[in-house]
Amino acid sequence: MTKKIALVSACLLGLKTRYDGKELTHKKVLALQDEYLLIPVCPEQLGGLSTPRNPSEIREEKVFDCEGKDVTSFFEKGALSVLKIAQLIKPNLIIFKERSPSCGVKEIADGTFSGRKIPGQGVSTRFLAKYFNVISEEDL
Ligand code: SF4
Repeated sequence: MTKKIALVSACLLGLKTRYDGKELTHKKVLALQDEYLLIPVCPEQLGGLSTPRNPSEIREEKVFDCEGKDVTSFFEKGALSVLKIAQLIKPNLIIFKERSPSCGVKEIADGTFSGRKIPGQGVSTRFLAKYFNVISEEDL
């Protein structure tokens, strides 16, 4: 049986790509491997940010790290890279990490670094959701 293809936030597959150098392996995502070829992508790394890195949040359509540096260009470069990968491999499904400033699907932080969340999408999700079916690990 030919497997379907899923593009997945790399941290959900156990890669230590998060800003704090940790991963967030998600059992329900891993369990899809019988049915899907799971392809990891990390937009923030593809955009040129190092790991570990400062946490970032979206504020007024731009992305700032916790020291106030505008990192929007890194996030957009990463989103464009992931979009190009998706256009090449044409995934049946995209599973992104909820609440990330890149990968959030329904919720993101409110931009104040206070821990508060608001409805919204990460930068990569915004790029990809125009063309592909994007869900979060919480939708599984
Ligand atoms: Fe995971 Fe996405 Fe953050 Fe990369 S950018 S660490 S894939 S949530």
